[in-house]
Amino acid sequence: MLPEPVETLLQSHNSGVVFPPFTRPELAVVTCMDFRIHLQMPENFAFVLRTGGANPEPVEPYLAYSVARMGIGAIALIGHTDCAMQYPDPYVLNHLPTDEEHIRRYRAQIAALAIGEVEFFTRRQARRLGERLGIPVVPLLYRVEDHRLECLEKTLLDYPNQLMSLERSL
Ligand SMILES: [Zn+2]
Repeated sequence: MLPEPVETLLQSHNSGVVFPPFTRPELAVVTCMDFRIHLQMPENFAFVLRTGGANPEPVEPYLAYSVARMGIGAIALIGHTDCAMQYPDPYVLNHLPTDEEHIRRYRAQIAALAIGEVEFFTRRQARRLGERLGIPVVPLLYRVEDHRLECLEKTLLDYPNQLMSLERSL
């Protein structure tokens, strides 16, 4: 069973259920910066943090702060299909719009932030984040093809091949 704030997100986004404005936030959302992602949510309902690949690591301090400050009850970690941060394009990384020194630095930073296979990454990050922050973190997948959200189970046991490919890519 999903935490209630995540159920609210799914009802609002997938089913178009209209909720009255919330009086305080109940959810934090981490999703990708991808231009195709557009979430339908009630007013005053959620913090939204966006990073490349919905990687929570660069924004984890903000998550911890918002959990402590506002008492939110759950986090939705939303990866998506066709994510460019799975395996960043080497050609693009060599043509960043800056000088050579910064290209080297950004290239290394972006490579270190690559996520590998998105469903595996999202599940694993959700589990780790939940352990660290002590609240439910639910992994979801946003399908850019039809703009639907689907829930990803947390189990990793069925994904040994993806584990290997992720470790190779890191
Ligand atoms: Zn993405």
